[in-house]
Amino acid sequence: MTTALWLCLGYAALALIGVRGLRKAGTPSRWLLVTLALMLAAQATYLLPADAQADPAYAVFFPGGLTQPSLAVLAQLFALSVFGGLTLRFLMLRFSTGFVGFGVILIVVTGLAVMQGNPQDSGIGMAGWLTDAFAPPLNFFGLGIIAAWAAGGMALIGAVMYRFATAYLSELINRAMFWLLVVPLVWMGGLAGMSGNNLLREAGWLLQFGGMVGACYAILSHRVLDVRRVFRFTFASILSAGLTFIVIMAALFVVAALPQASFFAILGVGVLATLAYVPLRAVGQFIVDRLFGRPLDESTSLVREYSQTITGVVELKELSDYAVTTLRRTLRVRAGMLILATAENDDTIRVEPMASPLVDAPDLRGWIPRSSAVYRTLFEQRRPMLQYDVEYSPEFAEVALELKSFFRALRMNAYAPIVMQGQVIGILAAANRVNDEPFTPADLELLATLATTTGVALRNARLVSDLRTARDQTEALNRDIIRTKERLERLDAVKTDFVTIASHELRTPLTQIRGYSDILEALAESPRLEPYQIAGVTNNVRKATDRLEQLITDMLDVSRLGLDAMDMRLGLTTIDSVLRLSIEPLAESIKQRELQLTARGLRGLPEIQGDTQRLVQAFRNIILNAIKYTPDGGRIDISGQLQQNPETGKDEILIKVKDTGIGIDPKNHELIFEKFFRVGDPGLHSTGATKFMGAGPGLGLTIARGVINGHGGRIWVESPGFDMEKLPGTTVFVTLPVNREVGGPARVDISSGKMPAYRPTPAESGSNAVAFDTRTRKG
Ligand code: ADP
Repeated sequence: MTTALWLCLGYAALALIGVRGLRKAGTPSRWLLVTLALMLAAQATYLLPADAQADPAYAVFFPGGLTQPSLAVLAQLFALSVFGGLTLRFLMLRFSTGFVGFGVILIVVTGLAVMQGNPQDSGIGMAGWLTDAFAPPLNFFGLGIIAAWAAGGMALIGAVMYRFATAYLSELINRAMFWLLVVPLVWMGGLAGMSGNNLLREAGWLLQFGGMVGACYAILSHRVLDVRRVFRFTFASILSAGLTFIVIMAALFVVAALPQASFFAILGVGVLATLAYVPLRAVGQFIVDRLFGRPLDESTSLVREYSQTITGVVELKELSDYAVTTLRRTLRVRAGMLILATAENDDTIRVEPMASPLVDAPDLRGWIPRSSAVYRTLFEQRRPMLQYDVEYSPEFAEVALELKSFFRALRMNAYAPIVMQGQVIGILAAANRVNDEPFTPADLELLATLATTTGVALRNARLVSDLRTARDQTEALNRDIIRTKERLERLDAVKTDFVTIASHELRTPLTQIRGYSDILEALAESPRLEPYQIAGVTNNVRKATDRLEQLITDMLDVSRLGLDAMDMRLGLTTIDSVLRLSIEPLAESIKQRELQLTARGLRGLPEIQGDTQRLVQAFRNIILNAIKYTPDGGRIDISGQLQQNPETGKDEILIKVKDTGIGIDPKNHELIFEKFFRVGDPGLHSTGATKFMGAGPGLGLTIARGVINGHGGRIWVESPGFDMEKLPGTTVFVTLPVNREVGGPARVDISSGKMPAYRPTPAESGSNAVAFDTRTRKG
């Protein structure tokens, strides 16, 4: 009765302290308050007189004939359930309400069962109801409650162990460890308290109160004391005291057993005992070290060695490795990391962990605003910072979630700033200790010292790395410039050639026309002018004018390419018919040149949206080239197939025109699509459109590419090289989309005959593809 009163006061005091912590510790402290209130209520039931249920003044507490002892048990069970919920909450696990729910169901069922029958029969709360529950006649109420208690207790211990195993921050592990002391006290205390045995009862309630004091401490303080350090200290003290005791006792026994305890004999025993004590102590120390790990004693020399060596390191990766190795050896941490920090602008610092052979840092970037608590702690106050604090301390509550998850993803535990001459350059981070003990202030101090020591070397290494990057960039730029220069030189040559080519190309038919008109004139003077003679001459004049017209049309077409304004008349067409129409006019020349032309795989190809005439023009130019640049007796193979665009995954037709000709030097594979570009001597002019090596004006492929790109396709060539002897051959590849996207030619107003600039599909954009873009977009 008096114990209960004291405990009531004790719980009330704990609750008062708990109220003060409400704001600081948040949800768990609300659960704590409820638990404390229920524990207080459970104690209060003992303040009621034993026969209270008979007294009308107390009737309200005893509905349905509950007795005072049974009421006390039910109240305690309720308090235990809420404590279980509190435990789960504290461990940041779910199901806290679920746990309480189960408890409440159990209590209600028990309560109803008790109220149904005669309370005295159930024996709940009566003397010995739990201790004798196993003895016949079995007390089913007692057994049931013991079973539920055991199950709940195991669930809670399991939850603590789970948190223990999964938490990655040593501070969280330490909290779980501390709670591992709290749970048994409260839980066992509860059972002993309910046992109905007078002796057990008082001891149980006191134990439980002790447990609750621990719970209050753990919840209301941000960091709990290092359980293992306390253990180690206690264990080491006990061991040392025990060893000393053994030695002294042994010496006393020996002295007592001596026949005559002369001064020298006692002196001898004393010396022996002392000598024995030294190795024994060493053994004791060894045991403690083995169990708990050695304290850090060589760290000073390691730090000195580190600071001497590190200044000579200028490679960032080497520096990172060395820093992390030293961290591992001095602080005995599982891992470490060097994080590079760069002031991005006046407001933010960019941070990126540094991966190196020893450190597999995640490929991440974070941004620390100068206004954040992280910046303040690390770079303004230059204090080390704990991940645990970032996550749970109210000081860091306002830190942006992204920044918090950046730090979380690093899986580090403590951070120390690296600042050189007021400039933020990095962070040295350490993961958990090997034994998962939390960091002590001395550990953090050591981390900070290492970070400061790293400063000079890090600055040098970053300068070197920046210089190297700058040098690489300059080199790349130089290479670009050289490439561009070469290209420009070649294009420049093309420009100069243009005048030569154009004048040759134009002059040839003009000269012919002039020649034939001279002939006509001469013939006109002769009296015998046969019609066949006129026909022969005019036929030649027609050929020459056709050639001129063709040339001018080509030139016009090419000039339009630059304006995205080639006329297109779209309709459904097939590749088969396009190629047929392209080859037909060339059949005669193919025969003359004894070339073998084959085509396969064209029939089965699907229809496409396109301008038949333009496509014929494009393919004729391609095939004409194959004819021109393949010696007599060579072969030209045309093939078609359906495939998926490697970028967009959409269906497209691929046509290959393969010849066994002279081939094209790879450095010209792109240039041949430029206007007026042709390989070889610009002074040559076309002697015949299909003659071997008969030079053209260099417009054929330019137009072909314009047409193919205009249809949303691609064109490129492949050839091992140029060789007049070995004839490596050339293959021209053309792709044409089967289904054009909305916005493509399918929606073109055909009557107007104008096709708008081809808008790239999202997958294609980036290559900046527009209609008649003359650049290759090779698949
Ligand atoms: P041209 O009117 O000179 O044929 P093109 O634009 O059609 O102009 O071709 C440009 C140059 O590309 C040609 O002068 C030729 O050197 C080269 N070329 C084109 N096709 C082939 C091919 N199948 N084999 C070898 N060289 C080719």
